[in-house]
Amino acid sequence: MTPTREDCAARDAADTLHALRAEFTLPEGVLYLDGNSLGALPRRTPGHLAAVVEGEWGTGLIRSWNDAGWFHQPGRLGDRLGAHLLGAAPGQLVVCDSTSVNLFKVLGAALRLRQGRTALLAERHAFPTDLYIADGLTGLYPGTRPVLLDSAAQLDAALDADTAVVLLSHVDYRTGELLDMAAVTARIHAAGALAVWDLCHTAGALPIELDAAGVDFAVGCGYKYLNGGPGAPAFLYAAERHHAAARQPLTGWFGHARQFDFEPGYRPAEGITRFLTGTPPILGLAALEASLDVWELADPAAVRAKSLELTDLFLELTEDLDVEPVTPREPALRGSQVALRHPDGYAIVQALIARGVIGDFRAPDLMRFGFTPLYLSRVDVHDAATALREVLTSGEWRAERFARRGDVT
Ligand SMILES: *Cc1c(COP(=O)(O)O)cnc(C)c1O
Repeated sequence: MTPTREDCAARDAADTLHALRAEFTLPEGVLYLDGNSLGALPRRTPGHLAAVVEGEWGTGLIRSWNDAGWFHQPGRLGDRLGAHLLGAAPGQLVVCDSTSVNLFKVLGAALRLRQGRTALLAERHAFPTDLYIADGLTGLYPGTRPVLLDSAAQLDAALDADTAVVLLSHVDYRTGELLDMAAVTARIHAAGALAVWDLCHTAGALPIELDAAGVDFAVGCGYKYLNGGPGAPAFLYAAERHHAAARQPLTGWFGHARQFDFEPGYRPAEGITRFLTGTPPILGLAALEASLDVWELADPAAVRAKSLELTDLFLELTEDLDVEPVTPREPALRGSQVALRHPDGYAIVQALIARGVIGDFRAPDLMRFGFTPLYLSRVDVHDAATALREVLTSGEWRAERFARRGDVT
């Protein structure tokens, strides 16, 4: 029996995470299924930002670098992420720059740690910025080259003594498919290569154990499931065992051993600090900090359990529709989104948005729906599935206005 809306409401009433919905500001009449692209606004963020802007910046001025702890904010937020969501002991994470820039840094460091090997393996269907960065970076490191796999399933066949680094997304941004991080990392290490993981669609979607999985380097977004706001700074993880030998290519003064000695020559700082580059974006960090305050109210295991329940429910409620689910039904292989394929996916998503059900579209034919357990309920999922059913059966998506494309899909 497929669950009714009443069944969903009863389950919501028993949900320990349900109260956290009040921590978010969402517009009336909107069902937000795009928290995997831009997380919702935590209710406490505007107040915290105003306090940082007016108090720490307006009144504290330059003194706030010391007095308000701005200087150590990249490492402090990194440690909090590591402790609560990423399974990393302190001193291995910083929050800074964008995912793209951090990827450049860790891939550069990883290639240098495997000098003599030439191949940087990545998936052909990886998020494009990952491939662009891999391409740009190998162009600057003589004797290295990207090698593209049709899928992660080809990894074992491709790994050999020439593989320097493997870059993989933990959760596929299109399909929502989840890889076994520990097992894949072990296979990469068995070939003598280093594992770099992109966690953009994992951080805040499910608990991760970076240290236990033996990961070498990782990067991920602050503005998706972490709710840090548009363009929020990203995070960068480097396992402690690599700190002494790692050299990242963006050698700015915030990564210098004696930053305020103003030496002309670069010397890397000890530890994770050497992965910093320039002045951190304090206001962006402040917004992410407010969001972490909310995250720390949630039990990560409960978040994962609810995420699987929500995605399962949506898959079940849309099973009989004329769409092709591409997200695995097997929980161990699923992140926190559902992707449905339909040749007219773009127009269907636009018709849903017109009804206040916000998902997104990835070319050529994928409709993506992100399920964020902190602010979505089972009733929301039921309502979203009903809206999709109505849009498909009424054919309202065929209206001409739904075919027009904006700059961002
Ligand atoms: C969202 C996303 C990015 C974004 O990178 P930015 O530098 O923040 O624009 C990178 N990789 C993956 C897999 C993503 O999903």
